Amino acid sequence: MSRKISWVSWQRVIAPIESGGLGLGSLADKNLSLLSKWWWRFKTEPLSLRRRTIAAIHKTNRNCTPIPCKPGLVGAWISISKINSHLNCFDISLHNLFTGQVGNGANIRLWIDKWIGEEPLCNTFPALFKLERHKDCVIKDRCTGNGQFSQWEWEWISPPASTTELYQLQEMLSQLRNVILTNDTDTWKWACNATGIFTTKSMKNHLIKTAHGPNHWIFPWNRLAPIKANILGWRLEMNRLPTTDLLLQRKIAIPSTTCLLCNTSVESIQHLFLECPFADILWSLMLSWCKIPLRRPLQAKDLFELHMDPSIPPNKAKHINLVVLSYCWTIWKVRNERVFSNKEPSIRFAMKEIKTTSYLWLANRTNSSELDWTKWSSFNF
Ligand SMILES: [Zn+2]
Repeated sequence: MSRKISWVSWQRVIAPIESGGLGLGSLADKNLSLLSKWWWRFKTEPLSLRRRTIAAIHKTNRNCTPIPCKPGLVGAWISISKINSHLNCFDISLHNLFTGQVGNGANIRLWIDKWIGEEPLCNTFPALFKLERHKDCVIKDRCTGNGQFSQWEWEWISPPASTTELYQLQEMLSQLRNVILTNDTDTWKWACNATGIFTTKSMKNHLIKTAHGPNHWIFPWNRLAPIKANILGWRLEMNRLPTTDLLLQRKIAIPSTTCLLCNTSVESIQHLFLECPFADILWSLMLSWCKIPLRRPLQAKDLFELHMDPSIPPNKAKHINLVVLSYCWTIWKVRNERVFSNKEPSIRFAMKEIKTTSYLWLANRTNSSELDWTKWSSFNF
């Protein structure tokens, strides 16, 4: 059975475009985002039948988990409750992305939920949490102020006595000093979008941003060119095209490693698109057609940043980038025709190909009455 070579890592393919990927997204991310929604619903719909049923089934005396989950049971809710451990692999704590907004304090657990500070109080003051008699108590169980000032009544297993416990108590009371309960219902704020309301899309975006970093150089996708031309450029910049040097690295038997356009050097992306005499002449012709006196790019990335040069008029930047994509497309085409059909490379043919291909791409994606072939072929618009 033949094995296909994988040229681009799957992680890079599913990474978002703004992280330098292809933006395909991952099914696992989608699934985790959909399951996260159940956490949000559990928190924000305290009176729903589903929540009350789940709470009744999964309630235990020592329930300190972010959402109730009775060990030993099986079923969909157990899978939902366990997604935190998957998310922890990406350094995401789902529980900490929900922040309780205190009203009457009846639905926010004092120690376990995040509502004041950056972390739940059980993490910030672990020595005190050990002493708490009812670990899952809600805020109003302990906060007994009459609406004018904050007052706290504790139920300790044994009163704080060690230096650490006393220090933590002092710190915690200072953090809680401005907490005052009202008659409003507690609400929840979602950290990953401006509205504060959970959406699976915002969760997915958060997940892919966190999981697929570090960010790579961002390829400037050009809407005037077809996706196949953009992908060729994207792969070219990453050095992920099947040139002979890379085929050799992957131990693929090839008759010759020499560039068949010039027969002088080993074929690589750097050589084929930037250094080959064939590419060099083509590049000069292309620049003179576009009337831009720019230096020759030194590396693949420069090809796709050429249009950002300050000397390029902003109204022509997208078109220049389109021409560069057409240049890459044409070189790759001429190279393939030489390798697979032994067709003699011709500069004249290649230059004509750059002009006509880029015009076809453009005409298919814009209103062609604005930019006809005469204007395009003289690059005068
Ligand atoms: Zn060459």
